[in-house]
Amino acid sequence: MASNGFVIEAPEQASIAVDGSSERFPVRRIYCVGRNYVAHVREMGGDEERDPPIFFQKPTDAVIDSGSTVPYATITENFHHEMEMVIALKSGGYNIAEKDALDHIWGYGASLDMTRRDIQGSGKPWEIAKSFDQSCPCGPLSPVEKVGHISKGAIKLTVNGETTQESDISLLIWRVPEIIANLSTYFELKAGDIILTGTPHGVGPVKPGDTLVGTIDGLQPLSITIGKRPA
Ligand code: MN
Repeated sequence: MASNGFVIEAPEQASIAVDGSSERFPVRRIYCVGRNYVAHVREMGGDEERDPPIFFQKPTDAVIDSGSTVPYATITENFHHEMEMVIALKSGGYNIAEKDALDHIWGYGASLDMTRRDIQGSGKPWEIAKSFDQSCPCGPLSPVEKVGHISKGAIKLTVNGETTQESDISLLIWRVPEIIANLSTYFELKAGDIILTGTPHGVGPVKPGDTLVGTIDGLQPLSITIGKRPA
C-alpha cells in the first residue's frame, strides 16, 4: 500500500499560484466558456451575438504556472493562444441566482485557453482540441478582498512583444454573474472550480521559442514560453 489508504501514490493536487502568498489555490474542475466576445465569434465565422453560452472542461491538471515553458502540443499543426480572464470559486451550488453569483468568487486572474485549432475545426468533439496536457496556463490569482470584482478593463496578449489580442472585459457577451448562473444549471459548482470566461478576437498561432505575455487591468500578468513538441 502506498499511503493514506490508496493502492498507489495519490496524484498531486493541481493548483494555481496566489499573488503575494506562498499558499496556492487548489483546483477541482476547469470550466471554459466558448464564443463570449462578439469580435471573436465573427473571426471564427459566426454571426450570432447572444447564443446560449457554450461550456467545455479541461482536465484539472492542465493548469500550469506563469513562468513555465509550455510544450508545443502534439498532433496539431496550428497551435493557438486564447487569452482569457479566469475566475476562481470559493463556494458553489446548483441553480445559483445572478444576484448571488459574485458571492461565490474567491478571486480573478489571467489565463490562456491553448487550442489545437486544426483539430477544433475537424468536426470531431472538442475534447482533443481543447482538453490536453498543459493547455491551461494561469497567472497568479488575486483575491476579491484585494482587487474587488472585475467587470471592465483592458485584456491584452503580446507574442514576442507584438500585440495580438486587445479588448476590454466589459465586452463579454455573457457577464461573469450570468456565466456562473448559467453554468450552475448544468453542474453543481464547488469550491476550487475555475472558469475561463472566453477569449476576445485576435487568436492566432504560436511556435516554439515564442514568449506570450497576457495582461488584464488590475490583475497579475501571465507569461509563458512555447517549447518544443514532446518527442
Ligand atoms: Mn477559449
